Amino acid sequence: MAVKPYVLAEQAYLTDLRRHFHAHPEVSLKEYETCKKIEAELDRMGIPHKRIGETGVYGWIDGKKAGDGATVALRADIDALAMDDLKEVPYHSQNAGVCHACGHDAHTAVLMGVAEILAAHKDLIKGTVYFIFQQGEEFLPGGACTLVEEGIADKVDAFFAIHVDAERPFGSVDVLEGTRSAAIATFEITVTGKGGHGSTPHTANNPLLPASDLVDAISMIPAMKCGPLDNATVSVTYLHSGTHGVANVIPETAVLGGAVRVLDTQLRSFVTEEIKRLGETIPAAYACSSEVTIVNGYPAVVNAPACVAVMQESAREIGLEVAHIDPRLGGEDFAYYGMKKPAAIAWFGMADATGKYAPTPHHNPKFRIDDETGLPAALEYMLTVYTKACNAKTPTT
Ligand SMILES: [Zn+2]
Ligand SMILES: [Zn+2]
Repeated sequence: MAVKPYVLAEQAYLTDLRRHFHAHPEVSLKEYETCKKIEAELDRMGIPHKRIGETGVYGWIDGKKAGDGATVALRADIDALAMDDLKEVPYHSQNAGVCHACGHDAHTAVLMGVAEILAAHKDLIKGTVYFIFQQGEEFLPGGACTLVEEGIADKVDAFFAIHVDAERPFGSVDVLEGTRSAAIATFEITVTGKGGHGSTPHTANNPLLPASDLVDAISMIPAMKCGPLDNATVSVTYLHSGTHGVANVIPETAVLGGAVRVLDTQLRSFVTEEIKRLGETIPAAYACSSEVTIVNGYPAVVNAPACVAVMQESAREIGLEVAHIDPRLGGEDFAYYGMKKPAAIAWFGMADATGKYAPTPHHNPKFRIDDETGLPAALEYMLTVYTKACNAKTPTT
């Protein structure tokens, strides 16, 4: 179904709204004003809504088109990052030390655009749409957990989302089946020996020996303990012990830590168990004690085939190319929705296509997207996806 005429009418609203959120960013779980603005917009559109946690909100619309459709949820994350905004633009961040450097302001504006169009044209959809404006994507354990705990997945048949991509030019969509982001964990091991004088190592017990063994042993996990076709990255990224320049003191403790990124949530369990085992047994072999802390981050996003089919078909329908890109090793709490119901997230190219400014990575203080061209295209895309998914005779399972 051609949705372009509806989109053109929203163009100015989209840009203004995105720039409003950009100028007033709020960090994860502190999105109080952002949430109030979203609720005010939903009220203006006559869309019922419910607060989730302190700063998340979802609204819903029942379609009026004849026939049975599916119930789909559309998710936008709404939080910004604790970092400076170094861009020189009129809509520069007005909150010092806070910046929308991941494009969540664009996600919020696009979802609001979809809501405004569907609120005015309920006859476009048969099913029900939930609009999730989710807090805290950038902050563990992730706002998606709150939504899932509140039972959002019991209400819907499928979840969809986009994430803008500031490094790829406008015109292509990365939405493939299967694993699309990493399952992440961090670890820290504190090794305790016995401090003493450098001249009498036999009366001390130097924790640096097991700590340096641990750096080797943990780094070898992908090569020696994982299958040759598994994708696992284990990086020891810090080791602290002793005092710089103090050569005659054997330290009492050594602390090392790092990160695990894998493309399979079960493999993450195996790798972290192995780190725990090494962290306990190697210090013990040196008669040192140890404490191992593992913190799991987000699981891997796994895009469901049926949802991907809808998103790919929609991209081609409006002239966008489906890009074939390797999974990213970043984390994304959208994974939690996909663990409950079929779900898919697409990365939407939104770098400047005209050469006005260079593409910037996400979380960069000069992060920038081409909102004038990209936002209406993203709206057209998402409206196509959602109407297609809602109007499906059977849920997209
Ligand atoms: Zn981010
Ligand atoms: Zn993000």
